[in-house]
Amino acid sequence: MSAPADTPGRLPGEFDLIARYFAPIAKSHPGALGLTDDAAFLDLPPGHQMVVTTDAMVAGVHFLADDPPDLIARKLLRVNVSDLAAKAAVPVGCLLALALPRGTTAAWLEAFAQGLSADCAEFAIPLVGGDTTATDGPLTLALTALGSVEAGHAPLRSGAKPGDRVFVSGTIGDGALGLEVAKGGLGDLAAPLREHLLGRYRLPEPKVALRPVLRAFAHSAIDVSDGLLADLGHICEASELTATVQAAMVPMSDAVQIAVARDPDLLSRVLSGGDDYEIVFTADPADSDRIMDASIKVGVPVTGIGFIGRKGEGAGPRVTVGDLAALNTVLRVTGYRHF
Ligand code: ADP
Ligand code: MG
Repeated sequence: MSAPADTPGRLPGEFDLIARYFAPIAKSHPGALGLTDDAAFLDLPPGHQMVVTTDAMVAGVHFLADDPPDLIARKLLRVNVSDLAAKAAVPVGCLLALALPRGTTAAWLEAFAQGLSADCAEFAIPLVGGDTTATDGPLTLALTALGSVEAGHAPLRSGAKPGDRVFVSGTIGDGALGLEVAKGGLGDLAAPLREHLLGRYRLPEPKVALRPVLRAFAHSAIDVSDGLLADLGHICEASELTATVQAAMVPMSDAVQIAVARDPDLLSRVLSGGDDYEIVFTADPADSDRIMDASIKVGVPVTGIGFIGRKGEGAGPRVTVGDLAALNTVLRVTGYRHF
C-alpha cells in the first residue's frame, strides 16, 4: 500500500488509511488507543468471561466483488454479532483483518468504512484493532467479535436436555429465499415481497435483544447460519441427543408463506437453507409461558417448534421433521457445506 495519499481514487499508505478510515470507528473505545499502538486493552466486569468469535468472507464465495461495500461491511459485522447473540454475550469490541485487492479505490474503502461505522454504532461494538494488507487474490475479510458474559452462563450447543422444548426466534426461510431472489429467482412474487426477502438475505438482523431470555431460560443455543435443521442438528450432536420439529409450527414471514403456497417444493429450502441469523434454543417446556412473555417484552418473538428427544439408535437422523409425511415434501437436511 504505497500509493501517494493525494492521488484521487487511490488509497493512501497503510498508516494514513488506518487513521482516515478506521480510527474514527475506534474512537468510542478508550482501550483502542485510536489504533495508534500495537494492541488494544479491554477490561471485563468482575466475574465475566470474554466470548470470542471470527467469521471470514471471501469475494466470489460469500458475496460478489461488486456488491455494495457498505453492505459487505455490515453483513460481516452482523454475522459475528449473531454468534455473540447466540451465546447471550454483550458486545465489547471487534477486530478487522482486511486483504484488499490491488486497485481498491478510496471510494470503495470510504463506503465500506461508512457501513462498518454505522453498524458498530448500532450494535455498540467499537472497532478496537485489525490488520490491513494488499493481495493479488480476491477481497478477503475476517472480523473477530469480542463479547462478555457472566462466567459459566452462556448457553452452549452441548447443553440441551431430553424433553427440552425447541424454540426459534423471528421467522425462518427469508434468508434462503432471499438468496433465490438475488440469483434472479422467484420472479412471480410481488416486488415488495421479493424486496423483503432480498433485504433479509443481504442484511441480517442479529437477535441481540434476546440476550436476557437466553440468559434466563436457555439450556442450549445456536444461531441459524447453516439452516434451521442443520443448526438444530449441531445442538443435537453436541448434546448427544435427537430432536423432532413440526414443519407446520416453523414461523414464516408473509413472503415465505406465499412463496411456499405457490411452490411447496420451496419448503425444503426454507427449513434447510441458511442465512436467517435467527436463534434456535432449547429450554424446559415448563418455562414456555415465561419465555413467550419475556421474548415479547424484548421485541423478539419466539415460537416453539418441537422437542429434544433421547439419543437416537445407530445412524438414525439427529433431527426428524414429525409432520414430513403429511406435508409430502422431500427434505434435504444438509445445510451449506464449503468442503
Ligand atoms: P502491526 O505492525 O503491529 O501489525 P499495524 O500497523 O498493522 O500494526 O496496525 C496499527 C494499528 O492499527 C493497530 O492497533 C491495529 O490493530 C490497527 N489496525 C490495522 N489495520 C486495521 C483495520 N483494518 N481495522 C482496524 N484496525 C486496524
Ligand atoms: Mg499489522
